[in-house]
Amino acid sequence: QDTITCLAAIAWKKNSLSLEKVQVEPPKAGEVRIKMTSTGICASDDHAIKGIISLKYPFIPGHEGAGIVESIGEGVSSVKPGDKVLTLAVPQCRECSACLHPKGNFCEKQDVIPSSGLMLDGTSRFTCKGEKIYHSFRTSTFTEYTVVPEISVAKIDAAAPMDKICIISCEVATGYGAAVHSTKVTPGSTCVVFGLGGIGSAIVMGCKDSGASRIIGVDINEEKFPRARALGVTDCLNPSNLKKPVQEVVKEMTGTGVDFAFEAIGLTETMVAAWESCNLSHGICIITGVSSPNLKFSLSAQTVFTGRTLKGACLGDYKTRDCFPQLVTAYLQNKINIDPLITHQLPFDQLHKAFKVYHAGKA
Ligand code: NAD
Ligand code: ZN
Repeated sequence: QDTITCLAAIAWKKNSLSLEKVQVEPPKAGEVRIKMTSTGICASDDHAIKGIISLKYPFIPGHEGAGIVESIGEGVSSVKPGDKVLTLAVPQCRECSACLHPKGNFCEKQDVIPSSGLMLDGTSRFTCKGEKIYHSFRTSTFTEYTVVPEISVAKIDAAAPMDKICIISCEVATGYGAAVHSTKVTPGSTCVVFGLGGIGSAIVMGCKDSGASRIIGVDINEEKFPRARALGVTDCLNPSNLKKPVQEVVKEMTGTGVDFAFEAIGLTETMVAAWESCNLSHGICIITGVSSPNLKFSLSAQTVFTGRTLKGACLGDYKTRDCFPQLVTAYLQNKINIDPLITHQLPFDQLHKAFKVYHAGKA
């Protein structure tokens, strides 16, 4: 196997992203080289490029991806060249405490917090202009070819349309999964979703499919409201237009607070607001938003003992290698419809335009 030279996006330093010719080494033992066909932009990539979550520069961003296996390293048995795969921002090693626990999914071999930017053997597979380039979350999908550990790859149905199902590798699993798998939203329940971006929209779909009777959507960008309503939001709130804190308005609207509150922004204020929006007795608050490592939030201690649950969820609590292929199959069988979550599709060399659309709040 030879080194491949191809186009990739490199974040050289904070807030800089440029398309470059990079060299991608062949996969080593236990690794897979993938020809990327599609990738999505997730706020976590944006956080990484902006330095909100700390990764090592220079790195190739991107984690929400679909591709075709180009070659495999020694000992790889779960995929072969030609297989369609999803990249996994959180791997599933099937050996660590998280993988062996029936509910755990935050595999100890993850490289999100903290991030080394390196493969499991402590080296990188990317170089550009003679310089070592780091990986992100051991996925790095903003490139025509990437190398990832076998544990960070899930083989999917050969019939899968790659330009659609790439979002199953993060957005759908995280959002839809937070509602239908992490919390199991109940029929007739009331929900509030803070943030109506990619993740929030997928949460709304999950609440709707679970039979929630009321879904309140909260966002400061009102341009998000029409699409959110189409997905199932029954009431839209813009906190900047309210005379009181949004959690008080949610409580008034529902009488006692919602059954399920979701945070899908990554801000501590909205995490606290989500907590305070839910029913004192049985309310469940789920945080999916990712914030910078040094931020803290505080809750009124008296609002905890009453029975509420505060829970985080990464990638919908799914065991990634086991479950993501099932989500793809569910899509192919028309059991879930992810198409409304895709607003724009652009060729890879227009990545900057894609970020522009995203930053303008249009995606
Ligand atoms: P996004 O940028 O598409 O959506 C964020 C939305 O929040 C936007 O619509 C924005 O207008 C809105 N918003 C911003 N500030 C607000 C405020 N103060 N009040 C109300 N609304 C506000 O982002 P996304 O891709 O949906 O990601 C959302 C969060 O989820 C990020 O923090 C991301 O890192 C995190 N994430 C977590 C996981 C996980 O597994 N837990 C996976 C992917 C992404
Ligand atoms: Zn993501």
